[in-house]
Amino acid sequence: MAIKKMDKPNEGVNCVVSTCEYYMNGDHCTAEKIQVEPRHATDSNQTDCSTFIKKGAF
Ligand code: SF4
Repeated sequence: MAIKKMDKPNEGVNCVVSTCEYYMNGDHCTAEKIQVEPRHATDSNQTDCSTFIKKGAF
């Protein structure tokens, strides 16, 4: 199930992925919560937000 999209930024998240449905101008994320993977990453380059949904999907 998709994460709820809020009408305001999630203040704890700064994100530049402007192609995401949850992205808001100013590098904000409007997802109520996000999930970051994978579990056994050893470097920040290996991590991704799995809550990402391509813009226009809703
Ligand atoms: S869901 Fe993830 S990729 Fe999308 S705006 Fe929020 S933090 Fe960025």
